[in-house]
Formats: sequence, structure tokens, C-alpha cells
Amino acid sequence: MRVYQLAKKLHITSRQLISELHKLKVDVKGHMSSIDDDTAVLVQQELKGKKIVREKKERKKTLKKIQIKLPIMVNGLAIRLGIKPSEILKRLLELNIIGNINKSLSEDVIKLIAREFNYEIEVLPSEEEAVFIEEKDDVSKLTPRSPVVTLMGHVDHGKTSLLDAIRETNITSKEAGQITQHIGAYKVRLNKGQITFLDTPGHEAFTAMRARGANVTDIVVLVVAADEGAKPQTVEAIDHARAAGVPIVVAINKIDLPDANITRVKRQVRSYDLTSEDMGGKTLMVGVSARTKEGIDELLEALLLEAEMLELKANFHRLARGIVIEGKLSAGRGPVATVLVKNGTLHVGDAVISGVYSGKIKSMRDDRGQAVKDAPPSMPVEISGLFGVPEAGDEFIVVKDEKLAKEIAQKRRMKVREKKLGAVARVTLEDIYNQIKEGQLKELKIIIKADVQGSVEVLQDSLEKLSTEEVKLKMIHGGVGGVNESDIMLAAASQAIIIGFHIKRDLALDELIEKEKVDVRFYNVIYEATSDIRAAMEGLLEPGIKKVLVGRAEVREIFRVSRIGTVAGCFVKKGKIVRNLRGQVIRDGDIIYNGSINSLKRFKEDAKEVEEGFECGIGFGDFGDIKAGDMIECYRIEKVTRRL
Ligand code: GDP
Repeated sequence: MRVYQLAKKLHITSRQLISELHKLKVDVKGHMSSIDDDTAVLVQQELKGKKIVREKKERKKTLKKIQIKLPIMVNGLAIRLGIKPSEILKRLLELNIIGNINKSLSEDVIKLIAREFNYEIEVLPSEEEAVFIEEKDDVSKLTPRSPVVTLMGHVDHGKTSLLDAIRETNITSKEAGQITQHIGAYKVRLNKGQITFLDTPGHEAFTAMRARGANVTDIVVLVVAADEGAKPQTVEAIDHARAAGVPIVVAINKIDLPDANITRVKRQVRSYDLTSEDMGGKTLMVGVSARTKEGIDELLEALLLEAEMLELKANFHRLARGIVIEGKLSAGRGPVATVLVKNGTLHVGDAVISGVYSGKIKSMRDDRGQAVKDAPPSMPVEISGLFGVPEAGDEFIVVKDEKLAKEIAQKRRMKVREKKLGAVARVTLEDIYNQIKEGQLKELKIIIKADVQGSVEVLQDSLEKLSTEEVKLKMIHGGVGGVNESDIMLAAASQAIIIGFHIKRDLALDELIEKEKVDVRFYNVIYEATSDIRAAMEGLLEPGIKKVLVGRAEVREIFRVSRIGTVAGCFVKKGKIVRNLRGQVIRDGDIIYNGSINSLKRFKEDAKEVEEGFECGIGFGDFGDIKAGDMIECYRIEKVTRRL
């Protein structure tokens, strides 16, 4: 570690630190001199003892606390802080933010500026946000609710068959002739209790919901085929369930097959920390067959047992709130949505807000197509009466009257237009230092994808070793192969960053990465990965340069033109291609050339830019090794500054 780095960590100046080091007889020359780890620890303790470091903390304690409501403008903030607006404008300029007294300020900026003037700001939620904040229930009002279960596992191991089998076994002979309604979830009624099953199995759906902030699943059933045993997606499912902190019950399916081997499956999953009770562990595992229905009752019993241990509770007597499982436009009934009540009881006639829509519940149907008037916690119902179709994962809440519901929905629609809604803060390497310092980030979660398993392990080991007292590094998922959609959603849902090692980037996923704002980094040398992350943790990550995609074109033909050289006849598939911006040629996922787009033609004419859906000719001057099938990406360079 260098002197200036330690000084920064201790919140003192390098000069102060050097003078303290000299007193301790540590020979350092300047702020770039390095100090070994032992000395750093020693110095830290010494300075704490002398109160040199603590002094800073004490000063922090004297910050005056004030509460503000957003939006607030420069002028308003100046009044609250008792300073001149020009003082704020000056600070803004230092932060590279141009503004005037009517500029509305973001929460981060407000907090930062206020701190300089010895104020600590608490931002109060706006009226419509306040409605969404769930009041805590008094413990005495809570009563047990039934569990919500999702099935996960490798493809073809029998998730869908099991869901069907469970559903069928629970239908009484009287109901057998009726058509079952697929509303996205169903409820199984047993003597000892009830269980709700989500109809969309798989960890992708599970994590996509989580990425939207919707946690509905209480227990995951991991389905493993007894003949095939654990497969890559079995492991993915385990990691996804773990990242969500949801307990796992293992269903070993297809035990009717002659080559079924329950013990082998139990042994396999033991290496992922799932140990069955007969092997001395705590995980409930049941052998089942979706085909013969053997073991289904035991599985349901195991789920009730697991639920009992979880002590799931809710308040049945309050305004309902929950999550949309699916939404659609029904020909006869207009917008309908299947919702799962998480707390409270939903009634026909309630005023609701869901996503950006409001409404008054006209009718409710359960999973058997029966009209119901009330839906208690964990009960899936299909509701009608909303003014639009909400999306899966949207929250729904009941408010006191329809007028309020309408007002809030309208405000939310405006926010969506301003793209402010659903902008969940994600973890990126650029801002982890601040988050660690503010104590918001105690664990840096990492997903590692590499070319071989050996690399995953080495990287995991080297990265987890970077853990400090303040922040622990933890790999939540690792695997061989390229970064895929489920990795991105897992990162988004779990606030993780993704490290790709010796793998190619899949261009098709760029959009998703951007949408989910996930930090994905590719490396070919382990040292570079560890040093980047260490630097980020110490707040020393150099402002990086980021390539911002402007457009992408596919090369269809090659022409040789005298004076210009090779011209790639392209079709613009996305965005636009702009002359004189940077371009990179990509072949099979590798960047084979990077340079300035020297010439751009539309038919025979020179063009400044060519939009999506049009053909163009692109030339890179001297570079001629372009082939049909290559991709050309046009991009802008932006400096990534640290989030403040
Ligand atoms: P999913 O991809 O996990 O949803 O798997 P499916 O439910 O679609 O099942 C995949 C295949 O396995 C289908 O051909 C099923 O008929 C078969 N299958 C599912 N469960 C069983 C079982 O318990 N025994 C046998 N023999 N086959 C099963």
C-alpha cells in the first residue's frame, strides 16, 4: 500500500501521515512510498490510540440533522442550509455539474454538499412514495400464512410434470370434470395446511422477479432427475435460490425409472452444501415420480414442515399488498392480473394501484375459476377492474379510496416517462468505495464466469482473499461458459458484479446489461481483475473510459475502391453509424480492429451518419481485413467518473 492510499483510508492528509510515520521511525520519503501491510496495521492502531483518526469521527458526529422533501432546487437548499445559492453553485461546478438557482438537485448531490456545510440530510419520501412504504405490523396481529413455492431445476428433469401432478392429486373427484384455470399460480389444500405453487418454474423467472424487487417465493423445490443426477442448471438453481436466501427442498424425480439412483443424487448435491437428513444434514429430500405420483404426498408434507420452521406470518386484517404474477388483456373482462397477496386481505371493491395503473376491483377468481370476494395472504387470485395491464413483478397495493389511487398512478406514469421509476441503484466498481465508506455495502457479491473450472476457482480464491474488515467479497455464482442472461438477472437481483475471464462477450446481451445497469468486466489476466477490484475498494479506481455504443452494422459485402481502399457494404441493425467516430470490427466475438470510421457513404454520396434500417459503406482507411459476416460497432468514448 502506498502512503497516500493509507492516508485516504485514515481520512488524514499524506503529510500528516508521513510525519506520524517518521515519529514511528518508519522510513518513508513521500506520498508515493510504499508501506507493507503489517506496518499499515500498526500505524492505524497507533493513530487510533493517539486519537488522530478518531478526531475525524467526532467531528462527523456534530453534523446538524435536517429533513428535506424532494424535489428541492439550489435556491431552496441554500435557504435550508443558511448559505448563499452561489456557494452551492460553486460546489456544483467542482462536481462538474452545471446549474442555476432553479436546478433541481439529486439526493446524492444534496447530501454531499450539505455535509460540507456540516449538515446531515434525511430525505423524506414524497407523498406518493410514502404510500408504498409498508408500515410494520404489530407482532400480536400476525397469524400464520401458507408458503409460496417455486420449482427449479435442470431442463427436462420434470418441473412441469411435477407441477401438473401435484395439482391433479389435489383435485377432488367432484371437481375432476371441471376445467382447471391456469392463472399463473395455484393453491393446494391439504388437511394440515395449504401451499401455493407458482406455475412458472425455473430460476430465470424466479430471478427476473427478484430483479424487479419482488420476492414472493418462500421455499424452492429443487427438482433433480434420479436417473441423470445434478446437471449445470441444477447448480445454477441452487446458487440462485441461495442468493435470494430462500431454503431448498430437494425433489428427486423419476424414481419410477429403472436406472433411478436416489443415493447418487443425494451424494452429488452434498457437494453443494445440501445434505439430506439421512446423511446427517438438514435438507429435506424426497424421492418422487410425476408419472406414478409416488412420493407426492411426502413432498407436500416436507414443504409444510419446512414452512412451519420458517414461521411465515402475515396480518390478515389490513389493506392488502402483494405482487403481480402475470397480467393480460382478456377479451371479455379487459385488463386482468393474477396477484399474490403478501399481506392483508384483498376484497372486491378495493381501490388498488398496480404498476402505473389504478382501479377498483370488480371481480376476483381463484385458481379453480370460482368467483371469490376475499383473498387472504398467499392466495393467488385473478383480479379485474384495473385501467391497464400491469407487468409480472409489479407491486400492487390497496389504498383508502379510488381518487388517491388514480392520483398516485398518474404521478407514477409521469415518473416512468421521466425514466425515474424502477431505476434501482446497482453496485458498480466505480461507486463501491463510497458505499463501503457509508457502511451501505458490507458484502461485495461477485459472479465469475470463465473458460475452465480451474480458473473459476483460482479467481474465487484470489478475489475472496481481498476481503477486509469493512467489506467481505463473496462469489455467489461461478461457472464455465459465457456470461448469459440468467447471470445478468442474478447480478441485478443480488446487487452483484460479474467478472468474465477468458471468455468472449455476447453482443446480443449488451442491451440487457445496459437496461439492468449491471457491471460486467472482462479480463484475461487474473492480476488485472484483482488489482481493479482492490483499487475500487480503496477508492482508487482510475476514472475509466467507457465505450458507449452508438450503432451496430452488419457487413454484407466487401468492395475495393481506389483511393479509399476497402469499403464494407453494411446494413445498420441498431442505432446509427457516424463518420469520424470510433469503430470496432468484431468477428466471432473478438474485436479484430479498432479505429476511426474514415469514410461513410450512402449509395455513392458521402454521409455524416446513417440510421438504423439503412445500408451504408464503411471504410477504415488502411485497414482492409473485413469480411462479410463481421459486425462493425460505432461508439463514443466517455469518461466514467465516480458516482458521488
Ligand atoms: P421440465 O423441463 O423440467 O419442465 O420437464 P418436463 O416436466 O417437461 O419433463 C421432461 C420429460 O420427463 C417429459 O417427457 C416427461 O414426461 C418426463 N418425466 C417427468 N417426470 C417424470 C417421471 O417422474 N418419470 C418419468 N419416467 N418421466 C418423467
